[in-house]
Amino acid sequence: MIVLVDNGHGIFTPGKRSPDGEFREGIYNREIAVRVVADLQDRGIKAELLVPEEDDISLQERVRRVNTQCLLHGKKKVILVSIHVNAAGNGTKWMNATGWSCYTSVGQTAADQLATCLCEAAIKHFPGRRIRSDWSDGDADIESNFYLLRKTLCPAVVTESFYMDNRSDLEFLQSRAGKQAVVDTHVEGITEYLESIR
Ligand SMILES: [Zn+2]
Repeated sequence: MIVLVDNGHGIFTPGKRSPDGEFREGIYNREIAVRVVADLQDRGIKAELLVPEEDDISLQERVRRVNTQCLLHGKKKVILVSIHVNAAGNGTKWMNATGWSCYTSVGQTAADQLATCLCEAAIKHFPGRRIRSDWSDGDADIESNFYLLRKTLCPAVVTESFYMDNRSDLEFLQSRAGKQAVVDTHVEGITEYLESIR
C-alpha cells in the first residue's frame, strides 16, 4: 500500500489565511503533512508527500500524480489523504464555525471506510471539540477539492481540521498539543484503515 499525503495549497497561495494574516494554510498543511508522512514511515508504512514543492500545484497535476501511482501499483494499493484547514468566511473577518470534518467522493465505499477511521481517531484526539458529520457552510475550497476526490482512481479523502477564521480553533491548531493531535488523528486513522483492509 502507498499512502499519498497532499498538503493542498502553495505557501504563497492568496487567501487561505486567517483574518489577521498571521496563519497561512499552505504552510500549516505542509508542516502537518511532513509530520504525518514521517510518522507513517516510522511505522513501516510506505507514505509519500504528493506535493514536495512549496508552490501551488494545480489540481489537475495533483490528480495526474495520484493516478500515475494508481496505474503503476493498482488503484486498490493506493490511498490519498488531502490535508486542509477550513474557513467559514472569505478571510476578512473572524467567524464562529468550528469543528473537524472529512469528505469523501460519492459512492466510493473504500473512501467511506477510510473516512470513518479518520473520524473515529478525531473523536478520540479532539475531546470536547466538534466533529462535523454534515456541513452547510463549506467554502469554495471544499468545492474545488471535490475535483481531487472525483478524478482520482483510488480511495481519497479531504480532511478539514478546524477553522482558520475561528479564534479558538486557530489557537488550538497552532498549539503544540493541537498540532500533535492533528498529526495523531491522521496517522491513527490511516493505520486503522490499513489494518482493516489487510
Ligand atoms: Zn484548503
